Amino acid sequence: MSDYAFRVLESLRARNQHEREFLQAAKEILESLAPVCDKHPAYEKVSLLERLVEPERVILFRVPWVDDRGKIQVNRAYRIQYSSAIGPYKGGIRLHPSVTLSLLKFLGFEQVFKNSLTGLPIGGGKGGSDFDPKEKSDNEVMAFCQSFITELYRHIGQDMDVPAGDIGTGTREIGYMYGQYKRISGLYGGVFTGKGLAYGGSLCRREATGYGLCYFVEHMLEENGKTVDGADVVVSGSGNVAIYTHEKISRMGGRVVAMSDSDGYIYDPSPKGVDLQMVKQIKETERGRIRAYAERVKGSEYHEGCRGIWNVKCDIALPCATQNELDGRAAGTLAKNGCFAVGEGANMPCTPEAVEVFLAKGILFGPGKAANAGGVATSALEMSQNSQRLSWTAEEVDEKLKGIMKGIFQKCAEAASQYADKPTNYAAGANVAGFLKVAEAMMAQGCV
Ligand code: NDP
Repeated sequence: MSDYAFRVLESLRARNQHEREFLQAAKEILESLAPVCDKHPAYEKVSLLERLVEPERVILFRVPWVDDRGKIQVNRAYRIQYSSAIGPYKGGIRLHPSVTLSLLKFLGFEQVFKNSLTGLPIGGGKGGSDFDPKEKSDNEVMAFCQSFITELYRHIGQDMDVPAGDIGTGTREIGYMYGQYKRISGLYGGVFTGKGLAYGGSLCRREATGYGLCYFVEHMLEENGKTVDGADVVVSGSGNVAIYTHEKISRMGGRVVAMSDSDGYIYDPSPKGVDLQMVKQIKETERGRIRAYAERVKGSEYHEGCRGIWNVKCDIALPCATQNELDGRAAGTLAKNGCFAVGEGANMPCTPEAVEVFLAKGILFGPGKAANAGGVATSALEMSQNSQRLSWTAEEVDEKLKGIMKGIFQKCAEAASQYADKPTNYAAGANVAGFLKVAEAMMAQGCV
């Protein structure tokens, strides 16, 4: 690693010792930026990396709300406004008990590069709370969302910071948050994306992250003489990203044989694979557990413990649940079972050890900040439609999404050829390609 990138990483380690996930993401990114910094000594002269790794602003606040028994509950919430170098902060809101400052800093930092890769004018941000919407009544979720926005509204705006969904934040939560924002601010506009279709949402936004992942994987396979058609696919998770990944990968001729939630995984060896309508019924309509699938679908199996899903034999693995869900050992098992491609639908679902295994074994690897960028790209398309007071058709949005994902893949491949150890190291390529545009904007804007 170049001396400059290494020193910045060492300083980050000293100053953020307990931020495990953030340091993991920062190390991976800074290592790939080393050759770029060697080539551009001007970056060090203006302390560009030191500024890039530090969020522009972190907002931390309490969220008091009243539960159904009349008791006051208090959650902790954050908004990380990481970088506005190329546009207003943009990134989702995660509602999950595991949310910490470190987790959101990792997600916010990754978002800066991802948003840059889309080619659209959006900066990077992320937010969330340790509130768990699971097993809460609608009323409780609404009470939380309203209190959350009562504080956050002053920090967001359609030209300032535009939040969206993430784990635990779906259309219901966005609806409650948007309603409260409008009530307090009196503004009707594109301050959130992932909105319902009746009040400014974009067709195809719900599907965009999963569909975009499949488009990226398709390009990656095509480039390397392979195809989705006829492949057995394991998709972890059964939330927004996983469901629409299943939908598109099946249309491309893949067969999804396993899916999961945080309790365990299902395996369906039938000729058609996992029945998507049943998963949608259980997860989207009933908000139930994935184990119900095996109770209802003959011939399928349920296994307790979500990490076992990587033991299922497959050609393509698409981790779409959460960070660090696929480790070095699981990567070894995938390799042994003949898996030839991995695409990250979730953010950083593969540990550094897993990525090492993929690169060493020649397994094609699509990193999340590129492969799952279709969601935020379509969010930016939602912002454009809101500004124009127009609604595009699903076909129009999907066409634009396809073009954006193709562009992202090409940028990753080009940057990998120029700066990485091998031309198929798309992980390094994504970091470099995302960085170059942000760096150019920062160089132009002076000491900010
Ligand atoms: P959802 O909340 O809709 O679904 C998350 C899924 O992952 C659920 O099946 C959930 O299971 C499972 N899961 C959550 N936490 C864990 C855990 N600790 N261990 C195992 N499984 C877990 O979220 P999304 O589908 O929106 O997001 C999934 C991933 O994709 C996240 O990493 C997110 O950051 C990323 N992403 C999402 C985008 C979007 O547009 N939504 C855009 C880009 C990236 P359970 O139901 O049991 O909680």
